[in-house]
Amino acid sequence: MRIDLHTHSRASDGTQTPAQVVAAAADAGLDVVALTDHDTTSGWVEAADAAASLGVGLVRGVEISCAHRGASVHLLGYLVDPAHPGLVAEFARARESRVTRLAAMVELMAADGIPISYEQVRAQVPDGATEGRPHIADALVQAGVVADRNEAFSRYLANTSRYYVRHYAPDAVDAVRLVVAAGGVAVHAHPFSGTRGRRVGDDLVERMAEAGLAGLEVDHRDHSPEARARARALAGRLGLVTTGSSDYHGAGKDNRLGENLTSPEVLAAIEERSSGLTPVLH
Ligand code: AMP
Ligand code: ZN
Ligand code: FE
Ligand code: FE
Repeated sequence: MRIDLHTHSRASDGTQTPAQVVAAAADAGLDVVALTDHDTTSGWVEAADAAASLGVGLVRGVEISCAHRGASVHLLGYLVDPAHPGLVAEFARARESRVTRLAAMVELMAADGIPISYEQVRAQVPDGATEGRPHIADALVQAGVVADRNEAFSRYLANTSRYYVRHYAPDAVDAVRLVVAAGGVAVHAHPFSGTRGRRVGDDLVERMAEAGLAGLEVDHRDHSPEARARARALAGRLGLVTTGSSDYHGAGKDNRLGENLTSPEVLAAIEERSSGLTPVLH
C-alpha cells in the first residue's frame, strides 16, 4: 500500500486542479492520497469524484496555518466536518487576512522597485482559492522578474525576507482543539523543518499532544535525518503516530507524489480516531 497524506491543489497554492492531483496520484502508483489544501475544504468534492472514478482512496484533509510565539506551525486536519461552524469561521478569518497580507507584501516590494502589483497577483489566484506567497511568486514569473517559484522564494518571499508579512493564524494548540472538535484527526506537519522561520521546541509539541494531537509528520523532505530522528523519538515518547508524505504542490515545487509514505497501520489508526466523516473514500 502506497499512502501519501499531504498534497495541495489549485484550491490553495498547488498548480493542478483537485481532479488532476488525484489523477497524478493514480499515475504515481499511490493507493491512497490525502488532499490537504491550506485553510479550505473547497477541493474535496471534485477530488472525491475523481478518486471514485480512478479507484484511488481519498483522505479529505486540510492544512491549517498556525502560529506559536512568532514561529509558523502547520497543522494537518484529517476527516474534519467541513461544516463545523468554528472551523468555517476560522478558515474565513485566515483567508481574509491572507488577502490583506499579500497586498501588504506586494506594496513593500513595489516600493523597493520590484515591478509587481496586487492586481497581477490576483490574476494568478484561481477563483475561490486560498491565496498564498506562491501566487506572488507566479506573478513575478509572469512579469519576467524570476524564472520560477523557487527563485521567487529564495530572493523575495522567504519567512526571513524583508518583504515577509504575517497573516492571521490561530495558535497551534487552539487549532488542535478545533480539529478534534470538528471530529477530525490532527497531525503536526513538518514539525522540525528548518526552512520556515524559527523551529518549534518539544514543549509546543507536548502541549499540542495534551490538546489531542494524534501524530507527527516525520518523513518530509524539509526534515534532515537528525530532524526525523528527533521527531520519531518525540512521537514515541508522547504516544503519537508518525506519518510520511510529499507535500506535493504540482509544478510549483520539486516535491514528487509518493516520495515519502505513511504505513497502512498508521492510516488505520487515523481512520479509527476520526469521529466525523467516512474515513477513506474509495
Ligand atoms: P503562505 O501560506 O502564503 O505563507 O505560503 C507558504 C506556502 O509556500 C507553503 O505552502 C509552502 O509550501 C510554499 N513554499 C515555500 N517555499 C516554496 C518554494 N521554494 N517554492 C514554492 N512554494 C514554496
Ligand atoms: Zn502550500
Ligand atoms: Fe506546510
Ligand atoms: Fe503543505
